[in-house]
Amino acid sequence: MAAKVVLAMLLSAALAAPAAAQSVEPPARSLELKLADVVEALAEYSVIYDSSKLFCAQYWGLTDYIERTITICGAMDFSLRKATMIHELLHVVSLKRSTKSEDQYTEAEIEAATHRIYAELYGEK
Ligand SMILES: [Zn+2]
Repeated sequence: MAAKVVLAMLLSAALAAPAAAQSVEPPARSLELKLADVVEALAEYSVIYDSSKLFCAQYWGLTDYIERTITICGAMDFSLRKATMIHELLHVVSLKRSTKSEDQYTEAEIEAATHRIYAELYGEK
């Protein structure tokens, strides 16, 4: 079986980015999720809801770039499923926009963008 390239959603409550960026630091990369991105991701990836304890004990969400699947723990409440979907879609967008693996967004960047986008769409949790 081929090794799978997977990224697990790592949950971190402490993802608040440092507030004041130094002027010498490069500007934060814009991590947007447009409707076209969502349509393209869903046209390319199958979404699977796995409510098994085996899956949900390990992951909230998992994107498999080889199998082209986005698996979400189906046992979570709707808010968490939505946030996890945003997170996994950002992984797909990150892969699509990057030409080198170093260009891909970090887990921290994706998690920060997930919170921002979720708040824009649904308000603060
Ligand atoms: Zn992730």
